[in-house]
Amino acid sequence: MEKIVIIGNGPAGATAAIYAARAGLKPIVFAGNVPGGLLTQTGDVENFPGFPNGINGFDLVMDIQFQAEKFGAMFEYEEITSAKLSPGGPHTLTVSDGRTIECRTLIIAAGAAPRRLDVPGEERLYGKGVSSCATCDGAFYKDVPVVVAGGGDSAMEEALFLTRFASEVHIIHRRDELRASLIMAERAKKHPKIKFHLNCLITEIVGDNTVSGVRMLDKTFDKEEILPCSAVFTALGHTPCSKIFKDAGIETDVSGFITVKNNSSLTNIPGVFAAGDCCDPRYRQAVIAAGSGAKAAMDAEKFIADAE
Ligand code: NDP
Repeated sequence: MEKIVIIGNGPAGATAAIYAARAGLKPIVFAGNVPGGLLTQTGDVENFPGFPNGINGFDLVMDIQFQAEKFGAMFEYEEITSAKLSPGGPHTLTVSDGRTIECRTLIIAAGAAPRRLDVPGEERLYGKGVSSCATCDGAFYKDVPVVVAGGGDSAMEEALFLTRFASEVHIIHRRDELRASLIMAERAKKHPKIKFHLNCLITEIVGDNTVSGVRMLDKTFDKEEILPCSAVFTALGHTPCSKIFKDAGIETDVSGFITVKNNSSLTNIPGVFAAGDCCDPRYRQAVIAAGSGAKAAMDAEKFIADAE
């Protein structure tokens, strides 16, 4: 039986692996469904302490992983597809390659996934004009109109970034009021390339092999039209990757964020700990995820020591 398994290798999981490996627990880390976590989809990270010139998100995650491997952590690029969790352990995990693994303690650092619009055309055209990462894909859309879906800070940030390439950026938001902070909204409103479509719903993403437009319902005038564009960037927030653990008895809030006790990493099941974006509806920052990963490893180490 493994002493500790960590699910997720973003900043939370990989930092937990450094701490667990240095404590001699020989952690096994499963990369989860977004290997490296969402940070690998951003460009430069300028607010992680210790990097005055910024650091590429992917490089940062890989450096944390190399640091953990140096102390003996093992990383596997398979997913955990189901879990059977027992108070105090052992916990049984099913791996995507068919294996089952038993562990005394488990750290869930599975992160969060971008929310989808769930409209016709979205899945079919994903990667063919539909994207959830302007930093990754924005440069492909030079001098053409693009759409950003959402009304939060991410939507404003993505739209502003896309003005570097696109001829015009259409922000489509389902309500008549933005969720974004005033400062971000003002920046977007002032930009000559950005046009707002408030109280509007995207009902379909259209195009044969690539995106050619969105079908948009203007709720104010009850009017539907096709807005031509070459790409749709969804910036709709994130959903925590907690379903299989919830199904196995882990408590979450209504949005699916794993509930942790009293500023610790302890979940409702003894021996199961959570760290990073899957239990953080509020901050969602790499540095905070890394810190919570350290806390989870220390909590797991104490749990093992107390049981021995
Ligand atoms: P948010 O949850 O804040 O916003 C998501 C937006 O998407 C909302 O406007 C929401 O609409 C809309 N939305 C969600 N689901 C759907 C759907 N199915 N169809 C249509 N619209 C939908 O997420 P963000 O990623 O924007 O921000 C998350 C956190 O990160 C926030 O705290 C934010 O402040 C922070 N952040 C800060 C930045 C900065 O300061 N530079 C940059 C980016 C993020 P509705 O409003 O109607 O719910």
